[in-house]
Amino acid sequence: MTEQRYLPDADDVTEFEASVTEATDEYVVLDGTYFYPEGGGQPADRGELSWDGGRAAVTKVRKNHGDVRHYVAEVEGNLPEPGDEVQGEIDAERREAHRRMHTAQHVVSRVVLDEYGAETAGNQIHADRSRIDFEPVDFSEEDVEKIERLSNEAIERDLAVTKDERPREEVEERTEEGRALLDLIPDHVDPLRVVEIEGFDYCPCGGTHVDSLGELGRVEITGRESKGEATERVEFVLNET
Ligand SMILES: [Zn+2]
Repeated sequence: MTEQRYLPDADDVTEFEASVTEATDEYVVLDGTYFYPEGGGQPADRGELSWDGGRAAVTKVRKNHGDVRHYVAEVEGNLPEPGDEVQGEIDAERREAHRRMHTAQHVVSRVVLDEYGAETAGNQIHADRSRIDFEPVDFSEEDVEKIERLSNEAIERDLAVTKDERPREEVEERTEEGRALLDLIPDHVDPLRVVEIEGFDYCPCGGTHVDSLGELGRVEITGRESKGEATERVEFVLNET
């Protein structure tokens, strides 16, 4: 069992120490980690693990039941053994890009839900560009401009972003219809981690996020395509202001 230490609100930590609980040629499991394991449309962190007498690059991070596996490459020295202390270092620039992108995705998803009643059917975040699939909806060019404008208006207000554990009952009450697929989260998961943008959006989510919208820069919608009858895919990037 690996403790996911970036939860609920330590998304900015990129250097840490932990103990090894399992190590194979392929992966290392720790008692706790700040590495984000791939999931929810957000890629895994990358970085490095080092220990007395060795180091390895972390190329992929995956959850496996309760464990978080740090897949290793370019191993130098002998692999660590259970009980050994390791230092973890996350690629901070990439993590920061994912934090900004994921929070921007929440902003755009909220704008589209409010304006068009369409929900986020899927999303894929990358460090340099991201996309969101909305349904049911059919956007015009004017709609795309409006989504971009309203997203940037919210960002300019520099609203605070808080991340916290909340009782499931509260989350079920406060999450707006169409904002999150709560039914897909197993019933026993309680409390839930919630990402809240002050007075603007409330969404259960396990991803990494910034602390205020002012950190995002400007959303630029760079593409739109229809993915079936009532599904629209929107692509965006974040520009410096
Ligand atoms: Zn999210």
